[in-house]
Amino acid sequence: MSTTKLQICHLYPDLLNLYGDRGNILCFRRRLEWRGLEAEITEVGAGDTADFTRFDLIFIGGGQDFEQEVLLSDLRSGKDRELKAAIEDGKTVLAICGGYQMLGNYYKTWDGQQCDFIGAIDLYTIGSRERMIGNFAFECGAASGGSTVVGFENHSGKTYLGAGVEPLGRILAGGGNNGSDGTEGVRYMNVFGTYSHGPVLPKNPEFCDHILETAFRRRDDSFRLPPLDDAVERAAHDAMVKRVVGQSK
Ligand code: GLN
Repeated sequence: MSTTKLQICHLYPDLLNLYGDRGNILCFRRRLEWRGLEAEITEVGAGDTADFTRFDLIFIGGGQDFEQEVLLSDLRSGKDRELKAAIEDGKTVLAICGGYQMLGNYYKTWDGQQCDFIGAIDLYTIGSRERMIGNFAFECGAASGGSTVVGFENHSGKTYLGAGVEPLGRILAGGGNNGSDGTEGVRYMNVFGTYSHGPVLPKNPEFCDHILETAFRRRDDSFRLPPLDDAVERAAHDAMVKRVVGQSK
């Protein structure tokens, strides 16, 4: 495996792809290319078999309750065990909304359907009639790079983390995990789970680079990404934070 080529898996690209989540893959690729690094993207859909041990980074987008229910049988055909093993092996994962919920124990939809998910992380999700919708912002914890992230959320699910499970960050504006405990997302092993669509990465370059570095560092602990001129991206980020939180962060 080349040290400069990152192997990225896009899991369920056709079923879990809400609100431009695919743009996160483009962002990963482009920010690597701007530094003379490469990404090889492998799409893994329902019914495909994949060797998760060969990937550095696994991306899972969001989907509606219907798509999540459709995926249950595919997960049970072996991907559940393989994904869990990849996570325990320290593979880097970015999972958005429905993809994030899928890593937990279960999701009970607002109309009472119980989706038993893969249980890779001790968290669960309960659907409510009232959705959390809108632009939102959160501050990542130190272990997740500490940057301020701004994105868009639209979910009925309220997610609750098990005891000792760390959130990705703390809410500055919006709902986040459940609209009540001030947490957003999850940070477990090298997994970054978030409710942030958008796509989230293009206007949050620091967060994107933190995830990329996490993936490279599993192979080489001294790896650092060279800085880029992010003036345009930062301007987009700062403008949105100002609009959503009311001040520049
Ligand atoms: N179906 C889930 C919910 O509404 C996830 C939605 C999403 O991925 N945007 O909670």
